[in-house]
This record gives sequence, structure tokens and C-alpha cells, in this order.
Amino acid sequence: MENIIDEANRCLNCKVKPCSKACPLGNDIPTFIKAIKENNLEEAFNVLTETTVLGSICGRVCPHSKQCMGSCVRGIKSEPIKIGELESYVFDNALENNLKIKTSEELNGKKVAVIGGGPSGLTCAAFLSMKGAEVTIYEKQPKLGGITRYGIPDFRLPREVIDRTVEKILSLGIEAKCNQELGKDYELDDIADKYDAVYLSFGANVSSKMNIPGEDLDGVYGGNELLETGKHPDYTGKSVAVSGGGNVAMDSARTIKRLGAKNVYVIYRRAREQMPAEDYEVEEAMQEGVEFLFQNNIVKILGNEKVEKLECIKTELVQKEGEKRLAPVNVEGSNYTIDVDYVVMAVGSKANKEVISKTGLETTEYGNIKVDEKYMTSKKGVFAGGDLIGTKATVAWAARSGRNASEEIKKYLLGEE
Ligand SMILES: Cc1cc2nc3c(=O)[nH]c(=O)nc-3n(C[C@H](O)[C@H](O)[C@H](O)COP(=O)(O)OP(=O)(O)OC[C@H]3O[C@@H](n4cnc5c(N)ncnc54)[C@H](O)[C@@H]3O)c2cc1C
Repeated sequence: MENIIDEANRCLNCKVKPCSKACPLGNDIPTFIKAIKENNLEEAFNVLTETTVLGSICGRVCPHSKQCMGSCVRGIKSEPIKIGELESYVFDNALENNLKIKTSEELNGKKVAVIGGGPSGLTCAAFLSMKGAEVTIYEKQPKLGGITRYGIPDFRLPREVIDRTVEKILSLGIEAKCNQELGKDYELDDIADKYDAVYLSFGANVSSKMNIPGEDLDGVYGGNELLETGKHPDYTGKSVAVSGGGNVAMDSARTIKRLGAKNVYVIYRRAREQMPAEDYEVEEAMQEGVEFLFQNNIVKILGNEKVEKLECIKTELVQKEGEKRLAPVNVEGSNYTIDVDYVVMAVGSKANKEVISKTGLETTEYGNIKVDEKYMTSKKGVFAGGDLIGTKATVAWAARSGRNASEEIKKYLLGEE
């Protein structure tokens, strides 16, 4: 940002802090901005680390317009304060200058295992470690970061930002065991027996299906899997349809366009205003040449073994009783076909059924791990959070449950339940 202090000085330091209330992590935004105004970046970092360890990441990828910035009083008559940019500035500065995170010794001698090193697991591990616990993270991938590394493309979140964030968190004294997959290299009971508590945070990164004819043809992919593995077909000169309107749809479409596809169509049932993706992502995707078919839906995928065409239908939006969002309704007789080579499903994500069933833990009707109000699963001493328990699927919400669960784990370990 050109002038960080000028931007901070625009903050009205509202007493009621609507921005903090709209932040899933409850970051004390006016107070950290006040420290920036006083040119005290270390104090700004100290204020933020009361509630978050992911400032460099959240500052870049949170849906700010729907969270903190969407509630900024400055935004009523002019531009809201660029809270995300200020947050990442403070964190980037702290990581570069190796500023220390404050720690205590309450949990000395207690051992906790965290399974899954994404935003939720990293946050839980960090807050437990800050309190003196000995924490080990078990992660199936070669590196930590979760979807921020194996999902969000680097044109939105540079890899060095994740590397530095992870390094800082591990520097609290956390051990990381990577390439260690639950359900394959070990089972939950093997871990639970060795630790005083376990936090499960292995996410929900399996693409949902549309359950339409033709979905099993060659050339139909899940957006989450494409982005996680980076294993794409050769798109050169091909036409690709992406079904959905959220982060996964945008990141898939933009990645595929960059990989050389001739045409990329995002097919979304509702209108642009209803898209869960951030406005800037849609704007940038359009500039990059991604085409949007709003109020259209895929009815069938056609082809002989391999995808050849899509049958689509137009939709109209109607207000249904008891529903908050406008509902898309197919317009009878508006069916048409388009030629495509590949179809990417980005219509939602779910947890990995096989891994969960091996844990023997109770699940919700949506297939997520069931927890009580203290984040404890059906097994005593085993806690869970993040996408795995079905929180709102954003980095900040996953981190919030990691931090809040760390408080409950602390009480459990100290016998204060
Ligand atoms: C493509 C994409 C783009 C997104 N963009 C944004 C965005 O811009 N802004 C935003 O706020 N949110 C975004 N999200 C949502 C956000 O990334 C997630 O809500 C968040 O990462 C969830 O954190 P988590 O820690 O619960 O799970 P994850 O990030 O999924 O982390 C889970 C971790 O567990 C590991 N794991 C999985 N299975 C096992 C196993 N069996 N054993 C051991 N480890 C395992 C995984 O490798 C991973 O490291 C996006 C999601 C996707 C898929």
C-alpha cells in the first residue's frame, strides 16, 4: 500500500467496533489500526496475535467485503478502510522482522496431536503451543497450509506468504510430521493413545457431484481435486465448462484458462449478484477471458465414453416462501447444447467419508464430524474443527474454530471442564 499511515488515519476508531464484530476471528481492528497510526507495528502485531496467527493469509484472501470491510462505517459515505491490506502489512512486517508471539507456560508437560495442517489445525496448534503445550501436527501432504497451499492458486496467494506463516507458527516449538495420512499410515486410536488430547482438522475437500446423467464420463473432474493435486489434462485449444459460482469455481476457471484452454465457461444457476465468489475474482476472471453463463444450469453431460457436449437450460429466479436466497427455477423448453471437452464440478465440497468412517466417530446428517459445544467429538479427549465439522467454509471461520477449540482443549487438559 502506498501510505499505510494515511490509510490507518482514515479509521474513525468507532467505539462499538462493527468491523471487529463482523470478523469471524473477532480481531480488535480499531486497536491494531490505532497502533499503526502511532507507527508502532510491533504493538499492532501483538494486538492481532491475541486472536489470529494467519494475518498475512487472511489479509489477502478473506472475503473482506462480506466481513470486516462490509461493516466499516467509513464505507457508508465513501470507501471502507482497507482492513485486509493493513492486517497483511502488519503481519508481513512481523514475519520479516521476526517479531515474537507472546507465550505462557500453563500447559507445560501436556502433549497434543493435531491431524491436518490447514488453517484450523495450524491455528489450534499455535494457540496451544503459545500456552506451553507440546504439539505435533500430522499432515498427509508434503507441506503444511491446507487449502491455502493445495487449493488457492498462487496468483491469489503467493507461496512465500504461506511458507513464512507456517515457519512462524512452527517456530513456537511445534513439530510437523508431513506425508502422514490418517486412515493409511496410522489410525485415530494409535494417536489418541499417545497424546493427552487430539484435534482433528483434516478438512472437507472432496468435490460434490451434481448427480446428473453423464457425470461418470471421462473428462468430468472435481474442482477441489484438480486444484489440490495440480494434475490437469492438456487443455490446449479445448473448451471447458465449470459448474458453480464460489471460490472453487473461480479458481478452477482462472487456472484452466491460464493453462491454455481456448474457451472456459462458468455455468451458474443464479445471477452475478448472488455469486458466493468475491466481486474482484469475477471481474478479474472476466478480464482474463473466462465467459460467464449466469442463470444457466447443466442438465446432462453428453458423450460416447468421453465428454462431448452439455445440455443446459436457462433459469429464472423466484422468491420462495421461507427461503432467504432467490431460488433458480428451470425455464421449460429453454434447453440448448454447447460443445465442451471437459467439465469441472465446483458445486460444493464434502468431508472424506472413508477416512471419517475409519475413525468410528459420530457424524452429522451432512457427513461432517459431530462435535458438542466444546468441540469435543463422540470420543473423549478427541476434538475437531474447521471444514471437517461443517463451519462456514472460509479460512477465518476455520481458524476461529481452531482457536476456540484450543481454549476448550486447554480447559480439558487442566481439568477445568
Ligand atoms: C479452491 C478453494 C479456494 C478457496 N478460497 C478461499 C478464499 O479465497 N478465502 C477464504 O476465506 N476461504 C477460501 N476457501 C475455503 C478455505 O480454504 C477453507 O474453508 C479452509 O482452508 C478450511 O480450513 P481447514 O483447516 O478446516 O481445512 P483444510 O484447509 O482443508 O486443511 C485440512 C488439512 O488436512 C490435511 N488432511 C486431509 N486428509 C488428511 C488425512 N487423512 N490425514 C492427515 N492430514 C489430512 C490436508 O492435506 C490439509 O492440509 C477456498 C477453498 C477452496 C477449495
